[in-house]
Amino acid sequence: MEFETIIGLEVHAQLLTRSKMFCGCSAAYQTAEPNTHVCPVCLGLPGALPVINREAVAYTIMAGLSLGCSIPSYSKFDRKNYMYPDLMKGYQISQYDLPLCVNGVFEFPTANGTGRVGIRRVHLEEDTARLVHRASNGRSYSLVDANRSGVPLIEIVTEPDLRSPEEARSFLVALRQVLRYLGVSTGNMEEGAFRCDANISQRSTDGTVVGPKVEIKNMNSFRAVERALHYEIERQRAALRNGETLVQETRGWLDDQGITVSQRTKEFAEDYRYFPEPDLPPLYLTEEDVAGIRARMPELPAARRARFAAQYGLSESDAALLTEERAVADYFESVVDGNQALARDAANWITGEIFALMRDQDLAIDEINVSPQQLRRLITLVTDGTITMRSAKEVLAAVHETGRDPDAIVEERGLAQVSDAAQLAEVVKTVLAENPAAVADYRKGKKAAIGFLLGQVMRHMRGTANPAVARQLLEQALEDEG
Ligand SMILES: [Zn+2]
Repeated sequence: MEFETIIGLEVHAQLLTRSKMFCGCSAAYQTAEPNTHVCPVCLGLPGALPVINREAVAYTIMAGLSLGCSIPSYSKFDRKNYMYPDLMKGYQISQYDLPLCVNGVFEFPTANGTGRVGIRRVHLEEDTARLVHRASNGRSYSLVDANRSGVPLIEIVTEPDLRSPEEARSFLVALRQVLRYLGVSTGNMEEGAFRCDANISQRSTDGTVVGPKVEIKNMNSFRAVERALHYEIERQRAALRNGETLVQETRGWLDDQGITVSQRTKEFAEDYRYFPEPDLPPLYLTEEDVAGIRARMPELPAARRARFAAQYGLSESDAALLTEERAVADYFESVVDGNQALARDAANWITGEIFALMRDQDLAIDEINVSPQQLRRLITLVTDGTITMRSAKEVLAAVHETGRDPDAIVEERGLAQVSDAAQLAEVVKTVLAENPAAVADYRKGKKAAIGFLLGQVMRHMRGTANPAVARQLLEQALEDEG
C-alpha cells in the first residue's frame, strides 16, 4: 500500500517587545534573576487588571501580513482555562475564534523549487512561567520562574499542506527568517523563543485508509523536527501496513534516543472552556491602522533575494547567501553604496573572506570589526592595483584585529604592490638561480613549473609582487637564457 504524508505545523514565537503582553514588566526574561520581572498582573494575583501591549499587536499583524494573511477589522482576546504549575492565573489569555490574522498563503524556497502552505491563523497570546526541574538527595522538585509569565507569544497555525519532513523544515527556516527580518522575534529554537509542534498523519494514495492525526511535541531544533517527522512516518506506515490500530494522541520526541513516545491520548477534544476575556476590550482595526503597520515593515527576504539577483547581477545562490540574514544584506548594500561596479567583488568578499572570519571566530556580521566603508576601500585598493589579492587578505585580517583603516595598514606594512620591472627583474634573477631544478623542468617542456617559480617570487616579495608583471618577467628570463 502506498501512503502520502499529511503535515500541519503550529509554531509559537516569542515577540521582542520591551515589555510583557499585559503589564509593564520587562520581557527580557532570560538574563534576569528568577522572579525579578514580575508584578501582580503577570503573577496572576486577584484583582490585577491586564492592559494590551500595542506593539505586540503591531508585531503580530506584521507577521500575519508577511504570511499573506488578511487582518479582520474586529478581534478579541479569550480565556483558555486549564491548570498547570507554570500557568500563574489558572488561565491563559489567548485568542479563540477571532484571531488577529487569518487565511494566509506563504511561499518558501525548498530543495525542489517553491513550497506553498496555507496559513490558517496567527493569534496573539501570553507565554507561561518557566519550570526548572531539579533533583537532590533522591527527591525531585520543580522551581517556578515567573519572569517568562506574560511574555507576548504568537501562534502561527498552518493548513495541513506540507507533504514531507524536508518541506516542513524548509517552511520553518523561511518562517523564522521572515520573523527575524521583521525584527519581531529572535527565532531562537534552542532558547525556546521559537517552538514547533507538528500534526502528522498518513493517507493511502487510493484514499481507502486514513490514519489518525498524531501531534508531536518537544522538538528543539530544525534537525529535530525533520528527524521526528521521519521517525513518525515510518512508525505510522508500519502500523497501518500491519493492520494495527493507530490512535489519535500526543507524542513527545526524545532526541537522544531518536524516537517519539506517547504522552497522552486524545480520546476527547480538550475542553479549555474558552470564553471572551472580560477584563480586556475587543480590538477594532481600521484600514489606516493596518496600512500604518504595513508601512513599518522592511523589504522581506524573498523580495530582497529577487532584487539582489536582478539589480546587482548576482547568482541565485549568492543572492540567497547574502539575504539570509537582514544584517548581512544591509552590510552588502552599505559596501556597494550605489556603485554597481562594486557588487560582484563585494559579494565575493562577503561570502568568502567575511563569512570565513565569522565562522572561524563565531561572530555575527555586526561583530566584525571591519566597517562597510573599510571593506569598500579594501576592494578598491585591489581593483586599482595598489595591493595584490594576497596582500588584501592580510590587510582584511589586520583591519579586523586593529580597527585601523586599510590605507594605514598598507603603508605601515609596506604592502603596496610592486609593478616596477627593474625591481622585480632582480628578484626573478635570484629565484632562477635558487631553483635550477624547476628551471630545467620548464625548459624540458614542463610549463607548469612557472607556477612554482612565480610562487617563489611572491614569497621573496611577501606577496606584493604584481603577479602579471612577475609572470611576464619570468617567462622572458626563461626564454632568453633557454
Ligand atoms: Zn508584570
